[in-house]
Amino acid sequence: MSDSDARDAHARDAHAQDAHETTTDQLVGQDPVDRYPSITPPEQDQPEPGLDAKLLPKADIGEHSYRGTGRLEGRRALITGGDSGIGAAVAVAFAREGADVAIAYLPAEQEDAEHVRDIIEKEGRTAVLLPGDLSDRAECEALPGKAVEGLGGLDILVNNAGKQISIDSLEDLTDEQLTTTFDVNIIAMFRIVKAALPHLSAGASIINTTSVQAYDPSPNLLDYASTKAAINTFSKGLAQQLAPKGIRVNAVAPGPIWTPLQVSGGQPKEALPEFGKDSPLGRAGQPTELAPAYVFLASHESSFVLGDTLVVNGGTPMP
Ligand code: NAD
Ligand code: MG
Repeated sequence: MSDSDARDAHARDAHAQDAHETTTDQLVGQDPVDRYPSITPPEQDQPEPGLDAKLLPKADIGEHSYRGTGRLEGRRALITGGDSGIGAAVAVAFAREGADVAIAYLPAEQEDAEHVRDIIEKEGRTAVLLPGDLSDRAECEALPGKAVEGLGGLDILVNNAGKQISIDSLEDLTDEQLTTTFDVNIIAMFRIVKAALPHLSAGASIINTTSVQAYDPSPNLLDYASTKAAINTFSKGLAQQLAPKGIRVNAVAPGPIWTPLQVSGGQPKEALPEFGKDSPLGRAGQPTELAPAYVFLASHESSFVLGDTLVVNGGTPMP
C-alpha cells in the first residue's frame, strides 16, 4: 500500500472510529468483526517507550466503554506497564471492578500515567503512580513494597511491562538490546514476584503478560519471542509452586493489539498499515479487548484456573 493509500484508508477508518466513539458511552456492537474499528495506521515512529497520547489512531483502553460489576471489590492491584496499551486497559477495568490500582511505568511515560490515574480516581478508587526502570534490579525489588505502601496491601500482581524491538538479522542484534529485553520481560518478573511474595496471601492472583510470539515466533523478534516462551514456562512452574499457598498464577497471551509498543520499534514501520489484518477477524485488537481476560484471572471466580495461558488474539490457532 502506498503512503497516500494508507493515509486515505486511515482517514476512512478515523471517520468510522468517530462514529464508533459516539456510541461507546451506551453499548459497543455485538459482532466481534466490527465491535471495534478495523484500523489502517499510517506509518509512524516514536522513540522508545512510545506514548498512547501520540498514537495514531488512538487506542481504545476502555475509558468510554468498560463497565464493571464489582468483581474486584476492595482488592489492591499492582500493574507494570499500566500507563498505556494493555496495562492501561487492565488498570481502567480493575478500577471499574472496584479495585485500587498502582501502576509502574518509565519516567518518560508520566503523561500517559497521569491520564490513567485520572480515570481511576474518577471511579472513586485510589491510584498510585510508580515511575522506575524495571531493567534495574533494585527498582524491581523495591516496587512491590512501594505498591503496598500506597495501597495498604497487595492482592493482585500483573507483570505486563515489556520491550519489543524488531531486528531483521541476528548479526544486528546488539548485546545491549538482548540483555535489556530479557531484563525487562522475564528477569524483572522473577525479581518482582520474589519481592511481592511476603505481601501476598491466600486468594492473591499473579498474571503475567506473555504473547502469541511464545508459540509462533516472528523471524525479526528472536529475543522478544524467546522471553515470551520463558514467561509461559515460568508461569506454569510458579503456579505449581504457589498453589499450596492459595496464590494462583496464570498468563495472558495477546496479539496483535494496537498499542504504542508497535510504533516504537516493535514492528517495521512499513508493516503498520496492515497491522493485525491477517487475523481471522481481519483486524487488530484494541487494548480494552484484553481487559476481561485479566479481570477473570484476577477475580476469585477463576479459583480452579491456574498455570494456564489465556490466548486473546482474534482467532489465529495456537497450540
Ligand atoms: P505498551 O507500550 O503500552 O506497554 C508496554 C509497557 O512496558 C510500557 O508502557 C512501559 O511502561 C513498560 N516498560 C517497557 N520497558 C520498561 C522498563 N525498562 N521499565 C519499566 N517499564 C517498562 O504496549 P503493550 O502492547 O500494551 O504491551 C504490554 C505487554 O503486552 C507487553 O508485555 C507486550 O510484550 C505484551 N504483548 C503485546 C502485544 C501487542 O500486540 N501489543 C502482543 C503480545 C504481547
Ligand atoms: Mg507506555
